[in-house]
Amino acid sequence: MKNSSHSTVIPIAEVGHQRPAVAVPDVAVPATGLLLDRLGRPLTDLRISVTDRCNFRCSYCMPKDVFDKDYKYLPHSALLSFEEMTRLARLFAAHGVRKIRLTGGEPLLRKNIEGLIGQLAEIRTPGGDPLELTLTTNGSLLARKAAALKAAGLQRVTVSLDSLDDAVFRHMNDVDFPVADVLAGIDAARAAGLGPIKVNMVVKRGTNEQEILPMARYFRTHHGGSVVLRFIEYMDVGATNGWRMDEVMPSADVIARIAGEFPLVPLEATTPGETAQRWAYADGGGEIGVISSVTQAFCHDCSRARLSTEGKLYLCLFASAGHDLRPLLRGTASDDDIASAIGHIWQGRADRYSELRALRSPGDPHQDNNGNANDKAPRRVEMSYIGG
Ligand code: SF4
Repeated sequence: MKNSSHSTVIPIAEVGHQRPAVAVPDVAVPATGLLLDRLGRPLTDLRISVTDRCNFRCSYCMPKDVFDKDYKYLPHSALLSFEEMTRLARLFAAHGVRKIRLTGGEPLLRKNIEGLIGQLAEIRTPGGDPLELTLTTNGSLLARKAAALKAAGLQRVTVSLDSLDDAVFRHMNDVDFPVADVLAGIDAARAAGLGPIKVNMVVKRGTNEQEILPMARYFRTHHGGSVVLRFIEYMDVGATNGWRMDEVMPSADVIARIAGEFPLVPLEATTPGETAQRWAYADGGGEIGVISSVTQAFCHDCSRARLSTEGKLYLCLFASAGHDLRPLLRGTASDDDIASAIGHIWQGRADRYSELRALRSPGDPHQDNNGNANDKAPRRVEMSYIGG
C-alpha cells in the first residue's frame, strides 16, 4: 500500500439523495487499524450482497406485485466483480473486520459463488488469522451446492425458513417451492460440515405464528439438536412490505410459547454485538435464539456494515443512502485511498434506527437514522438489495 498522507478529494456518490463529496483529508484516516464510529462502536462485521435477485417472492422481502417480470434488476456491468469484492474485503479486514457474511438476494444464484468464497478464504487479518466466512441462503440450492461451498472455504450457513408446513411455506415463498427441498439442503449442509447451522424464522403474527412450536420440536430432535433455530421479529425494512406493528410477534411471546412446552434457561452472549439472545432447552435439547430488533433494539452494539451488490456501503439496515465505493474501485484510487475513505465513512456513523423507532410514539414525525425529525425522509433501501 502506498502512504495515504496526501490530500485527495474523492466523490462518494449516493442513492436516495445527494451527500457532499467525502474528502480524504491531509491527516488521513489511517488505512489500517481499528475504527470506532461516533457512538464508540467498532467495525467488525461486513455483509456483502452478491446479487439483487432471488428465486423466492416472500411478501416481507420481495413481494410479487413489486418484483414482477418487469422489475429492473441491476445490469451485470453494475455488479462488483469477485476481485473488486475481495479487494474491499481485504481493506475492511485491515480495519478490524473479522467476519464476512455473503447475502443477496439469494447468494447461491450468483454464478460461481465458490470462486468468490475461495478468494475471500485467502484473506488474513493483521494478526494472520483467516476471516470467519458465512452465508445466508433460502436453502433452495443448498442440497446441490453444500459440498462445493465447504470445499471452497465457507465455514457456516444460515438458512431462512419460515414454516415447516408445506402449504404455509409455499404460500409464504409465493413461488410454490416445497419445504422438503429446503430441509434436504439443511441435511446436506450438515453432512458437508457447514455447521453449526442456524435456521432463521421471521415470525409474522397471524401468518406463521402457529409454526413456532412445530419448528422448535423439529429442530430439537433432528441433527441431535445441533441446528440453532432463531426467531426474528418482523421488521420494517424497505418500503414495499406493508409492515404493521400489530403483525410483529414480540420475542417475549415466542419464548413464553416455547417455554410452555419445553422449559428454557437463558444463556450468556458468546460475542459482543451478538444480535440474538440465546436460550437453552433445560433438558439439554440444544439451544434457540431470538432477534428482537423491534421490541429490544440492539443498535448500541451494532458493528455491522453492509456492501451492496454494486458497491455502495450502507451503515444501517434501515439506511436510505449508501456511500458508493465503486468509482474508487474502478478509478485510480489506491488501496490506501479506499481504506482511508472507508475509515472516514465509519467514523462519521451515528445510525441507530431501531432505537429511535422504539422511542417514537405513533404520530411522531418520521426521523432519519440520526434522530433528526424529517417528514420527507428518503425512502429506505430494500432488504433484497442490501441483504438482511
Ligand atoms: S437499526 Fe441499524 S444501527 Fe440499529 S442494529 Fe439495526 S442495522 Fe444496526
